[in-house]
Amino acid sequence: MAKRDYYEILSVPRNASDEEIKRAYRKMALKCHPDRNPGDKDAEEKFKEAAEAYEVLRDPKKREIYNFYGHEGLKGTGFTGFRGFDDIFSSFSDIFEEFFGFSPRSSRRGASSGADLRYDLKISLYDAAFGKETEIEILKRGRCEHCNGTGAQPGSTPQACPHCYGRGQINRSHGFFTISTTCSYCHGEGMVITNPCKACGGGGLAKRRKKVYLRIPPGVDSGSRLRLSGEGEEGEFGGPPGDLYVIIHVEPHEFFEREGDDIICRVPISFAMAAFGGGVDVSTLDGAKKIQIPRGTQPGEIFRLKGEGIPHLNGRGRGDQIIQVVVQIPKKLTKQQEELLREFAALEEEKGAAVGKGRRKKK
Ligand SMILES: [Zn+2]
Ligand SMILES: [Zn+2]
Repeated sequence: MAKRDYYEILSVPRNASDEEIKRAYRKMALKCHPDRNPGDKDAEEKFKEAAEAYEVLRDPKKREIYNFYGHEGLKGTGFTGFRGFDDIFSSFSDIFEEFFGFSPRSSRRGASSGADLRYDLKISLYDAAFGKETEIEILKRGRCEHCNGTGAQPGSTPQACPHCYGRGQINRSHGFFTISTTCSYCHGEGMVITNPCKACGGGGLAKRRKKVYLRIPPGVDSGSRLRLSGEGEEGEFGGPPGDLYVIIHVEPHEFFEREGDDIICRVPISFAMAAFGGGVDVSTLDGAKKIQIPRGTQPGEIFRLKGEGIPHLNGRGRGDQIIQVVVQIPKKLTKQQEELLREFAALEEEKGAAVGKGRRKKK
């Protein structure tokens, strides 16, 4: 029999959100649940079919593979569907919680929060200045695919706790009243894993690559830390996930140097330009701009372009661009240039001699 389309099984559109898929599956699971349809083979088939569809569509990676390659593509991932009801129940404990009033995962052996993760990201000065939307791939611990996060070796199922008989609570009578305490053997779970998963050692978590969308705000600098809440490693046994911290490293730029939110650059101008003044094209973060160099500009003199620097990270406005002129002395002269320059030098000498004479006179 040909396999039915997973979206069709759950009656959701192909672009359905995770929440829509979960809701659709919950509805199907409730309707076709074997406890509600004893002996009904058709309901049983539908129940299994829906579980398989949900197992694939709730996992972004499997869903993507399915979207591209269909049922065939999933064979390559080792996905085999489910072995039976118990397998289904232990995989989707959060959904079946409402049937039984407890979740076989919620606090088993103490739920612990996931670890925080660090990711170092190199970006260009332009991206630091104007921000960027990007995707990074991180390696983190997520639900173990071998056991579907249950921690139990596939084929085995968690057993009812022998101490509390699966209740998670132990009642002790003290005369007239009964005190109920959380079972310390199963930590209130009601279930114990007798045969831990070989891939994850029973923790229900395994290392996996995941793509994370990242929005870098304008104005970040080396050492800026972006926090992505909940994108760290998943917690064990239903504990909350940790956070992901992205540390920014801004790569050096060939022309601009950064100092706070100001950027500094050095612009070469000719000896004649320094003397006469004139317009010079200068690169800015927003493209080339013409600046006016005044007559008689000295080597190393500084000009400031207001608001042409890096945008302030947490506010409005921008730093400045600071331009330092570097007056270039020609290394080679043509014959004519040399003659003219010698003439210029002679005139300067005369001027200097005149000043010198004047000084001597004064003495
Ligand atoms: Zn496992
Ligand atoms: Zn127990």
